[in-house]
Amino acid sequence: MAANACPCGMSYGTGERCTCTPQERRRYFARLSGPILDRVDIQVEVPPVSRIILDEEMGEPRETSAEIRARVVEARAVAAERYARHGWTCNAQASGRWMRDHMSRYSLEPINRALEAQRLSLRGADRAMRLAWTLADLRGIPSPGREETSQGIALRTRL
Ligand SMILES: [Zn+2]
Repeated sequence: MAANACPCGMSYGTGERCTCTPQERRRYFARLSGPILDRVDIQVEVPPVSRIILDEEMGEPRETSAEIRARVVEARAVAAERYARHGWTCNAQASGRWMRDHMSRYSLEPINRALEAQRLSLRGADRAMRLAWTLADLRGIPSPGREETSQGIALRTRL
């Protein structure tokens, strides 16, 4: 799913070129219902293409799609091996209970805090934890640390 940040589509970055009123923006986002959005695992703001190209010219060369694919295949293999005796193949299938039981209290704290502050729904907290496991698999570490949990939350918290 994709949506502009506002009806005129110019409110990214500093948003100086956006001509929408606050009411127009609110109405626009109200069309995406909370319960539907809650089921979308990763929610991120994507900068305009012109800026991506500019960053690329100025910075390090980016990974190719083939390189990224190889990392994803490797991460999925790690997860499949970890879950083999439970009959799960990936983080989406694993039991939430198992995942929580195999994380430290310290690593889980950002999720618990976000829950208490109602920045995450119960479903959101579950998804953020699964994302944290995926990040750990991509980084080749045995279980998510605090950084992975915090990033799992950030990947679901739309601006
Ligand atoms: Zn606008």
